[in-house]
Amino acid sequence: MQAMDTQQHLHTAAAPASIERVETFLVDLPTIRPHQLSMATMNGQTLMLVRLYCSDGSVGVGEGTTIGGLAYGAESPEGMKLAIDTYFAPLLLGANASAIPALMARLNKAIQDNRFAKCAIETALFDALGQRTGLPVSQLLGGPARDSLPVAWTLASGDTAKDIDEAERMLAQRRHNIFKLKIGRREVDADVAHVAAIKKALGDRGTVRVDVNMAWSELEAQRGLAGLVDAGCELVEQPVASPQALARLKGKHAIAVMADESLTGPASAFALARIGGADVFAIKIEQSGGLRAAQQVAAIGDAAGIELYGGTMLEGAIGTIASAHAFATFRELQWGTELFGPLLLTEEILATPLQYQDFHLTIPQGPGLGIVLDEERVQYFRRDRRQGATVTAVTAARPTALVG
Ligand SMILES: [Mg+2]
Repeated sequence: MQAMDTQQHLHTAAAPASIERVETFLVDLPTIRPHQLSMATMNGQTLMLVRLYCSDGSVGVGEGTTIGGLAYGAESPEGMKLAIDTYFAPLLLGANASAIPALMARLNKAIQDNRFAKCAIETALFDALGQRTGLPVSQLLGGPARDSLPVAWTLASGDTAKDIDEAERMLAQRRHNIFKLKIGRREVDADVAHVAAIKKALGDRGTVRVDVNMAWSELEAQRGLAGLVDAGCELVEQPVASPQALARLKGKHAIAVMADESLTGPASAFALARIGGADVFAIKIEQSGGLRAAQQVAAIGDAAGIELYGGTMLEGAIGTIASAHAFATFRELQWGTELFGPLLLTEEILATPLQYQDFHLTIPQGPGLGIVLDEERVQYFRRDRRQGATVTAVTAARPTALVG
């Protein structure tokens, strides 16, 4: 009887489910403050959400998000929607939804690059598989090595005093004690002074890191890194654009050099490791091209003695928690994560918000991603619904204008 039950369970778990419908839409959410990076200032965030409806009733959700539209990379939320509707969906419809590696191989063969869109699809596939099997995505990815993740906060108001106030609030709330400063918009010396002032204000209560987002020339970086060491900064993220320049900077100053923009998946990770281009990898699921590709980047880092950090594309709740499930499986995560994306948004789109406490994000234990969308909120912020509202308003205003 026992054996039969087990058989029955296995049969149920392996029951074939095919993908019946692919739905994509854009959601626009405002941010709590302007977020200033060297290449863009963000006042809002657009999420491209994809839902895969499967024949067994499971529905998986995935997210594609970028930083500043096209400011960071070649994909935009609008472009991802178009690519999935036009090119991904025909390859997915009717396919076995549980055969994730085979499906991703099919996509990778037929579609070049488009890593962010592929990540959204793979996230949705794992979410649906989790519901089908009752397992959290971290289990499906091999099992978690930790049940919560340290989360850094990014200070990017562009104003030193405001940033210090913000850091103090985060420390008081016990939400963050690792701070990343976005620099690279001003002169090197002004940026270094900004970092030094913040580190001095925080003292030993918080650690300070910087992200230059490739804004420095190699020569500026030589001067900048020396100043940052004196300022008490422990890590510099992508100070220059080229991997070769990163390699030349690494080890010259007593500060960790982290690669971010240079990391675009396993092949780039291997190339960077080979030239000794980084002390730390900032791994992002979207940049990597998916959850399993992010795990491959982590494995390459481990093998090369490169330390790991869980990065963000400022994803909303779905992309953030998908990242958390993947990062939870990394053997090492020496520098924690920056999975604060949802906290930068003014609007909650989950029925139960993600749990940020004691400087950590808790990884949900429910099936799949372990989150439930607040469907009413999601529908309210859909761009197509809001554009409809605008059109109506314009049409209604026209007769008045004609009369006037
Ligand atoms: Mg970065």
